[in-house]
This record gives sequence, structure tokens and C-alpha cells, in this order.
Amino acid sequence: MMERLDVVIAGAGVVGLAIARAFAMAGREVFIVEAEAAIGTQTSSRNSEVIHAGIYYPRDSLKARLCVRGRQQLYRYLQAESIEYRRCGKLIVATEESQLASLEQIAAHARANGVDDIVWLDGREAQALEPALRAVAALHSPSTGIVDSHGYMLSLLAQAEAHGALLALRSTVTAGRVTDEGIVLDIQGDESISVRARTFVNSAGLQAPALARSIHGIAPQSIPQGWLCKGNYFSLKGRSPFSRLIYPVPEPGGLGVHLTLDLAGAARFGPDVQWLDGALDYTVDPTRGERFYGEVRRYWPALAEGQLEPAYSGVRPKASGPHEPAADFMIRTRSDHGVAGYIGLYGIESPGLTASLAIAEHVVARADEQRANPLSERAGQQVQ
Ligand SMILES: Cc1cc2nc3c(=O)[nH]c(=O)nc-3n(C[C@H](O)[C@H](O)[C@H](O)COP(=O)(O)OP(=O)(O)OC[C@H]3O[C@@H](n4cnc5c(N)ncnc54)[C@H](O)[C@@H]3O)c2cc1C
Repeated sequence: MMERLDVVIAGAGVVGLAIARAFAMAGREVFIVEAEAAIGTQTSSRNSEVIHAGIYYPRDSLKARLCVRGRQQLYRYLQAESIEYRRCGKLIVATEESQLASLEQIAAHARANGVDDIVWLDGREAQALEPALRAVAALHSPSTGIVDSHGYMLSLLAQAEAHGALLALRSTVTAGRVTDEGIVLDIQGDESISVRARTFVNSAGLQAPALARSIHGIAPQSIPQGWLCKGNYFSLKGRSPFSRLIYPVPEPGGLGVHLTLDLAGAARFGPDVQWLDGALDYTVDPTRGERFYGEVRRYWPALAEGQLEPAYSGVRPKASGPHEPAADFMIRTRSDHGVAGYIGLYGIESPGLTASLAIAEHVVARADEQRANPLSERAGQQVQ
């Protein structure tokens, strides 16, 4: 007899764990299936650990809404659970007069997204905050911060488990099929089992589109093509000259070669934008550092030759390609694909860490709507 489970979540990254916690705290029985030997070893441990304010994302997009809400929820959570974080703030820097119009647009956009604490600084005011900086003007975002993402993920897991969630490591959802009584999932681990889930959440990050395609009964046209966009980091030898995060005006595909800090105060630059065609590859090509020097010296002219060394990389799980407009987070529910009980998360790139608690809240609300209103949902809301 096949085991019946209430909620099965594929993927124990920061988003899967936040969703598991939210379902468990809502009284649902939760089973988390993670392919790797530990939680959060993929994109969730290969990022900048920045708590984003929500400045750049298109107005009313899920990215904008869930970032602003998620950031507020995250700060409260970190404070309540004594997880290390710092509200260090960030400067977005114009280094040429020609960038002032872009900076003004960013400020207006931020306000429209509900980020109401952005302050315009002229070059002198920016330098008073960060003496090493070269800037003609800057935006100061005081609500940007950094977080111990591993401490956060451990806490999410602990809270989920305290509410009855179970985690299976080294266990991969390899295939499945949609049936009238739920979604049957084949799971390969120490032993191979099949389970029947009432609700199945695909939170498999970079593998989410491929996992969805392996489930018979999910319409292929409802699954976006996944694109891999690597971001390489170079760390700074020696002490950081800055105490805030420093970002140039954004570039297509990413936020420009920016400086972020870790909680120990060490600085790193990146991530840059390197589209991959096919296999996942985390190696950092040291020659990419050459471009970093030029980019960084625009806002920090004192960067000396030899001060940067290759650090690590992460791969953005994008749902749009290099020459397409950036896709929003895609949280696909029954109204999108017609399958009761399936929730697919695609393109959960930045600001997924910041937004994780709000994404979880959104997913649980969509699942509840489906349960309360099983027949009318298709005609009802339009979820992106
Ligand atoms: C370079 C870079 C910088 C970033 N910087 C920031 C930042 O500063 N701030 C911010 O808010 N966001 C940032 N992000 C985004 C953030 O890191 C992600 O949105 C977030 O980590 C996504 O979490 P996830 O749980 O969806 O995915 P993941 O962490 O990738 O987790 C998915 C999990 O699913 C598992 N899995 C895959 N397939 C299966 C399967 N078939 N069965 C079982 N398990 C499976 C994987 O092993 C993995 O553990 C950044 C991303 C990148 C790439």
C-alpha cells in the first residue's frame, strides 16, 4: 500500500525550508525531500546574503511585493530568534553626471515599490559616509542589510521540525504522476519509495523546471524553460575600506559589480553576469577578475593591482533568457496548470533569500484557497 502524505516539498534550500515551516505551523503534515546530504547547499549557500530593500523590481511584481514584505518579516524573525544580521545600509553610486537620471529613476521606482526610506546624497555627502568612495551622487538605502543565511536556514528547519515536519536527506524526487487522489512521487534515497502527496511543492531551485517535466500530467507549456546565469565573486585581500554595501547603477542581467560585506566585515565583489549553456559549473575563471578591476575602480579608485582573488560563484535560476526582459518569480498553482495540489516555484533568483518568508506565506495562502475553493479557482485569481 502506497504511503499517503499531506504536503511533500522537494528542496531544502531557504525557500523550501521557509515553506515547510509555514505549512507545519499551519497544522499540515510536512515531508521535506532533499537530494543533497545537507540543507541549503545549492543557491542558498552561493549568494551575497544581502537583505534587499526591494528597490529595483518592476512595480507590483511578485519580486517587488514579496521582497518588501519578506524583508520586514525577515528582520522581525532574525531579531526574535537571535540570528546574526546587520542593517548596514547600502549606497547606489553614480560615478558620472550621465548616470544621474538613472539614479533619479531608481529613487522614484523604489518609492513606488514602497521603499520609503531612500535618501539622495550629493557626492560630498556620500564621501562623508564612505571616505574611500568616488561618487557624483548616491542613494542611501538604510534598510538594506546582511544576514547569516545558514543560521537562518537552521532556524527555519528547527521550527518546521518542532511543528512535526520530517526531513529526508540524500533523497531525490526522480519522477511522478498526477492522479485523482493526489500526486504520486518516486523518491530515490537509501531505498526507493513512492508516496502519494495531497499537496506537492516543487522548490527544487535550479532543477525545478526539469523536476516538473518529469511529472506526468503537468502540462509542459505551464513549465518555463530554465536558464542558468552564473555570478562570480572575487574577494578583497585586506581590510574593507567601506562599512556599507556599495552598488553601481545596475547593468542588464544583474546589479553590476558591487561590493558586499560578510558579518565578519570581509569584502567581496560581484556577482558578475555569465550565462551558462547547459551544465552547472561553479568554477571561477580567474581571468574574469581583470574586468572587475576596471568596474570597481570607477567607484573605488584606490583598488590596487593584485588585491582581488577568485572566491566562489552562484548560479541564478532564471526563467528568462539573456535577451528577454527579466522574468518575475513564477509561483504556478492550479489556476495556471490545472493540476490540483501542485505548486511549482520557478525562477526564484534574487531576492529569494530576502523574500523567503513572504514566498512561504504566499504559497500556503494559494494552497488554502485551492482547498477551500477547489472548483472555482481556475476562473478566480491570476497568479504570476
Ligand atoms: C549569485 C547569487 C546571488 C544572490 N544574492 C542574493 C542576495 O544577496 N539576497 C537575496 O535575497 N537573494 C539572493 N540570491 C537569491 C537566493 O540565493 C535564492 O533565491 C534562494 O537561495 C533560492 O532558494 P531555493 O530554496 O529556491 O533554492 P536552492 O537553495 O537552490 O534549493 C533547492 C534545493 O532543491 C534540491 N533539489 C533539487 N532537485 C531536487 C529533487 N529532484 N529532489 C529533491 N531535492 C532536490 C537541491 O539540492 C537544493 O538543495 C542570490 C542568488 C545568486 C545565484
